[in-house]
Amino acid sequence: MTGERPVVPLALTEAVLRAASTSTASVFLPWVVDRVELQWSEGDEVNLGLTRFLASEVDLVRARRLRLDPGPILIELHPDLNDDEALLHHVYAHEMLHAAGLTMHSEEHDRLTNAVAPSPSMADSPLLQRLRDRLLAEQPVQSWTCGHCGHTWQRTTMRTPTRCLRCARPLR
Ligand SMILES: [Zn+2]
Ligand SMILES: [Zn+2]
Repeated sequence: MTGERPVVPLALTEAVLRAASTSTASVFLPWVVDRVELQWSEGDEVNLGLTRFLASEVDLVRARRLRLDPGPILIELHPDLNDDEALLHHVYAHEMLHAAGLTMHSEEHDRLTNAVAPSPSMADSPLLQRLRDRLLAEQPVQSWTCGHCGHTWQRTTMRTPTRCLRCARPLR
């Protein structure tokens, strides 16, 4: 059953904060534990997690520059994560690092997230599979036909293929 709020182990939060402390971007680190409020999201189809700073843009820019208290921060997690603990921890770590001040999807943000809570593989996560299938179903192009050999195949990845699956010549 989904509780009123997402619950994550204290040890995970501590691990995220330790990871954040290795980054010069983590300007909000001293406040993050007191300022973050965790909620389940409405369950939109695309985002598993979302971090929102509730302060105004102006105050936030100032807080970042002067390393001040950023004010309240809301982290929303997708309720389906309740059934997928590894992914819940991964998304939580991802969002908490944003909240600590690593707001960009940088290589460092990615590396720290995965060091603390690696993402489960697609094969191990029914939720990731479900989201992929949903995204795939929304893609305007559902199949490709090779202009060289005529081979047609159904879309199974988000990425657009560059070569024909059968004859390997460039797709045009
Ligand atoms: Zn993010
Ligand atoms: Zn072909």
